[in-house]
Amino acid sequence: MSAHIPTLALAWLLLLSSSVGTWAASFSTVVIDAGHGGKDGGCVHHGLVEKKLCLDVALRLEKHLKARGIRVIMTRRTDVYVSLEQRAAISNRQRHALFVSLHFNATRNRAISGMEVFYRSSAGKSVASRILRSMDLNLKGKNRGIFYEDLKVLRATRAVAVLVEGGYLSNKIDAARCATAAHREEMARAIAVGIMASRS
Ligand SMILES: [Zn+2]
Repeated sequence: MSAHIPTLALAWLLLLSSSVGTWAASFSTVVIDAGHGGKDGGCVHHGLVEKKLCLDVALRLEKHLKARGIRVIMTRRTDVYVSLEQRAAISNRQRHALFVSLHFNATRNRAISGMEVFYRSSAGKSVASRILRSMDLNLKGKNRGIFYEDLKVLRATRAVAVLVEGGYLSNKIDAARCATAAHREEMARAIAVGIMASRS
């Protein structure tokens, strides 16, 4: 049994790296998914409402990607409720798309802070790592890492999909940062740079 593992693992790694390489250059559209909206506010802490921050960063990210010549589709551009199924359907109408969902986090332990990016596929993992690396280089805040997560919105989209958690609103320092337009602008720019890096 054990003798087969190294060969299999190597073959699998080669397959993974070649498919990521092929895919990485091929997306032409980015579907920006501002989390929550309308009746779904997301998390609320320190006077911040997640849905508003998600939309703000989404609109800023749209501007940065368009400036870099990327076609952008938004799942929402106003404070409206959009179901996860609708978000996936919007994305699934696009060919060669990358789906980027934007969120902010919260947890009962208020000491927890930082940025993290979730993925569900090997290509998604590659994009997630480039986005988080760019955020880590350009933003203040803890790098919590990238994580595999079988999130419904990621599962339902046929596009390569990642979900960015821009910070913990339940943490006082993260919340203070995310409350400023300057930080959200820098976050949007950093995400755009990470997305562009995953194309080449
Ligand atoms: Zn959220």
